[in-house]
Amino acid sequence: MPDGWLARAAAAAAAVAAGGDPNDHAAVWRELKDGLAELFNDKCWYCEVPVPRSDNAVDHFRPKGRVSDAAMEHQGYRWLAFDPANFRYACTYCNSKRKDLEGGTIGGKADRFPLVDENARLYDAGEPDRERPILLDPCDIEDWRLLGCRRENGKPCASTNAPGEVARADASIEIYHLHHEPTCKLRHGEAVRLMGDIEEAKSYFALAETNADHARSFKVAAQRILKAIHINSAFSGDMRFLLGGERSAEHPWIQTLLET
Ligand SMILES: [Zn+2]
Repeated sequence: MPDGWLARAAAAAAAVAAGGDPNDHAAVWRELKDGLAELFNDKCWYCEVPVPRSDNAVDHFRPKGRVSDAAMEHQGYRWLAFDPANFRYACTYCNSKRKDLEGGTIGGKADRFPLVDENARLYDAGEPDRERPILLDPCDIEDWRLLGCRRENGKPCASTNAPGEVARADASIEIYHLHHEPTCKLRHGEAVRLMGDIEEAKSYFALAETNADHARSFKVAAQRILKAIHINSAFSGDMRFLLGGERSAEHPWIQTLLET
C-alpha cells in the first residue's frame, strides 16, 4: 500500500459520502492496481489469464455505480468505493461488457451483482456480509473450487452437481465472460499440456520402482504438473480441477501433488 494511501482513501470516501461522484476520485483506487496485480502474478483474479497491467483495471466487486440486478433503483455500493476489501484485479473481458461476434458470446461484469436472496440487498452503508452474492468471489477461500473446465475444448463448467452451486458457477461463467472463445482456446492449450504430462507421469510411475531412469522421468513430469497447478500459473484452478479428476488408487501421487 503506497504511503499515505489510507488517508487519501478516507478523504475520498468522505467526499463521496457528502454527495461526490466516486469516479472523480478514481486515482485513489488506481494507486493500488500494481500492488493488487502482484498478489496474483499479474493474472486477472476472475479468469486467471495473465495480461499486461495496462490492459487491466481495479474492479469493484460490489459495483460503485448503479446495480442492474437490484430490485429497486440502486446508486451503487458507494460507501465501499474506497474499501480495498471490495477491490479485485480484473481484465477488460471480465470487467467490461463485451460481445464476441465470432464466438457468439456476451459477457463482462460491468454493473452486474446478483444476489441469492434479493431481499438481503443493501442500499445504504451496512455490513456487506449479510448479502450472499451469486457471483463466485476470487477472495472467498472456497468459491474457486466450484469452477472447472472441459478437457476436450477448454470451456468452463461447474465442478459440482449441487443445484445452488451449479447456478452460481453458471452465472459467473456468463457474467465474467469465462466462456469467451479466445479464453477457452488459451485454457484448452493449458489443458492439453497438462493432460499430456499426467499421461506421461502415469506411465513412468508404473515403472519407477524398478527403473531409476523412469523414476527420474516421473519426477520431471510431476514437476511440470506442480507448476501448472501453482497459484502463479495461468488457469491454475482449472488445472487443479482436471488433475483432481485423474485421481485413482493406482496413482496416489496425484493426491499428493494436489496437497503440495
Ligand atoms: Zn479476466
